[in-house]
Amino acid sequence: MSKKSEEGITAKKNENFSEWFTQVVQKCELADLRYNIKGFLVFQPWSVLAMEKMYDYMEKNLQKKGHKPYWFPTLIPESNLKKESEHLSGFTPEVFWISSSGKDKLDEPLALRPTSETAFYQMFSLWIRSYKDLPFKTYQRANIFRYDTKATRPFLRSREFHWIETHCAHESEKNALQQVKEDMKTTKEVMHDIFGVPFIFFERPQWDKFPGASRTFAADALNPDGKVIQQPSTHMISQEFSKAFDVKFKDKDGKDKYSFMTCYGPAISRIFASVVITHGDDKGLKFPWEIAPIQTVIVPIDAKLNKKAEKIKKEIEKIVNVEIDYSDKRPGEKFNYWEMKGIPIRIDLGLQDSKKGKVTIFRRDLDKKIVVSEKSIVKEISKISREFTKNLIKKADRVFDNRIKEVKDIKEMEKAIKEGLVAKCRFCSTQADGIKCAEVIEKNIGAEVRGTRLDEKTKVSGKCAICDKKASVIVYIAKSY
Ligand SMILES: [Zn+2]
Repeated sequence: MSKKSEEGITAKKNENFSEWFTQVVQKCELADLRYNIKGFLVFQPWSVLAMEKMYDYMEKNLQKKGHKPYWFPTLIPESNLKKESEHLSGFTPEVFWISSSGKDKLDEPLALRPTSETAFYQMFSLWIRSYKDLPFKTYQRANIFRYDTKATRPFLRSREFHWIETHCAHESEKNALQQVKEDMKTTKEVMHDIFGVPFIFFERPQWDKFPGASRTFAADALNPDGKVIQQPSTHMISQEFSKAFDVKFKDKDGKDKYSFMTCYGPAISRIFASVVITHGDDKGLKFPWEIAPIQTVIVPIDAKLNKKAEKIKKEIEKIVNVEIDYSDKRPGEKFNYWEMKGIPIRIDLGLQDSKKGKVTIFRRDLDKKIVVSEKSIVKEISKISREFTKNLIKKADRVFDNRIKEVKDIKEMEKAIKEGLVAKCRFCSTQADGIKCAEVIEKNIGAEVRGTRLDEKTKVSGKCAICDKKASVIVYIAKSY
């Protein structure tokens, strides 16, 4: 263990969130930021082990819903990107280009994929023939590259990130919207119900769409500093794309028609950031049970108890992923270290307890110690394993729900945003003409209109919170990364 991590986390999560996050990344050894290309980082075992499990949950869920896995090349020819002009102009400033190989200049520059619509669609045009092939549902696990010009932050905003992208082709616009709703459900089932990250899924305003999409939907999670962070987004892609790539199918009536595309992008390395941020506390990490790199650690306080530690390990390793801490640190140091690393359960073996046939279990979900008999240890651990993530979710949901505030006008909005809340208000329009009011908010408060909720289609009455026009939608306003 390095000297650095012995100090523990010194910043307070709710007082100095930015410093807290940086310390957690470094002291818990999630990533090493010293790699010598700006915006790129080395992911370390403690984050990789958790993210491998996260990939697994997400991929299994997608496969269950009929998505088939692919591995596409990392490189995309410039001509593919040029086929759809809105997409190209949206991504051009962020693309890393390869222009030579060995000593030779390439005839055509190749892009390090910033996202892979233009790679998939070219192949879709070769693979899809008939309405019987639809829906055509794919996904790939990949790393993508974007030369983001904003300040980079590990996991939250880096120039290479690790994600899953799904690409689907459908018969009709209606089916495409159905897919978007399925993607939202997937996000809830995995990101919320397993990883414990609360979020709201918004339809983004027309001026804030994915380049080349007709409609964009995105999940926003919330950080303690009041800023939202965009998590998975799902898009209905404009038909200009299927026309540009000639993705056609023969319909039941024998006519050639262009497919309707959707894509969904859960970025695992960024979702990991929200897991850390949502559950972590002033002591450090707190992993949900399902994705903890190690679920239980046994700490024998005296070397005389090493044998007993082995025996307990054998008993419980059928139900948990467990290790024994044989290091020669003082017990207090060991306790702090494992609490910082976010291990769900720690079993402390002491001489006194041992004489009575007891062990002490520390559970990180409630930060509570309980003393149980050695005989009941398997039963206790299996009980905690069932409750653990539920406890984290309950707490996270409560914090999240308390951060949304209804406001009537820009004054109330400014106050709410200053307090680190998400403001909710009546608004004139999320079509093109609403942008003026969005700009007023941006200019005066530095916050953005994040969008409307599909599951909140109640009748809207009264006026826009910003202008005098009649309100047509309820929108949510927040600062973002
Ligand atoms: Zn307005």
